[in-house]
Amino acid sequence: MSITIPVQNITRKSLIYKSGLGFYCVNHAQGCSHGCRYPCYAFSMAGRYGRSAGYDDWCRPKLVANAPALLDKELPKLKKKLGVSADADEFRIHLCLTTDPFMVGWPEIRAMSLRIVEKINAAGLTCDILTKGILPRELAGPAFNKKNRYGISIVSLDEDFRKRWEPGAAPYADRIGALRYLHDRGFPTYAHIEPYPTPNIFKQDIAALVNAVAFVDSLYFGGWNYSTAAEKYPDRTAFYEEQSRIVKALCRKHNIECEM
Ligand code: SF4
Repeated sequence: MSITIPVQNITRKSLIYKSGLGFYCVNHAQGCSHGCRYPCYAFSMAGRYGRSAGYDDWCRPKLVANAPALLDKELPKLKKKLGVSADADEFRIHLCLTTDPFMVGWPEIRAMSLRIVEKINAAGLTCDILTKGILPRELAGPAFNKKNRYGISIVSLDEDFRKRWEPGAAPYADRIGALRYLHDRGFPTYAHIEPYPTPNIFKQDIAALVNAVAFVDSLYFGGWNYSTAAEKYPDRTAFYEEQSRIVKALCRKHNIECEM
């Protein structure tokens, strides 16, 4: 019998912000139960700025309980600032950059994420959602904009790799299955293959991974950063050049938009 731990609530003064990467984001949780050990950049930053007391604390997320109220205030202001009309649907808000909107084992965060996407869509804007969890089937429902983009972050198909490096995240087959479900219902989908491991971290076949998600519309491929193990791999540059060539060729074959 599994025991569900109730999520701890926090409040924030603001929610939507423009990231250093140039797009608007919503992070309505602090921490992430997926506990990635690549390491996770968001975890490193949380530690540096006093928002996490360590790995165990990070893996027990806190929910921003006033997120819907903040959105009600901020969405009209954002639309006014951007000059986005009521029926504009080309402007996307990203969920999430410093946490995961559909993290495994936290139903309150899952429910809040759906509520947030619904509110953003009701305001005439679309969402770009990236997860290492399970994308809910509800996202295919009538409350959600057909131009929402749904994505999974995936760097392997091997469950031993997942247990070592993304211990709390969803199994790969479930992640892909949930994305496929939304793709089959006409939603734009993407795969984020980063951080892809060097062979001294984990040896695998990039072609098998790309082929497993070959139904997506777009794909991003990137290397393994912030790790001395990856930096020490002697043929790192040549390795990533070779993997990039394989990814590009497969993207051409499957008509996938490719970014690196
Ligand atoms: S899923 Fe993302 S935010 Fe969560 S621990 Fe992993 S890298 Fe960090």
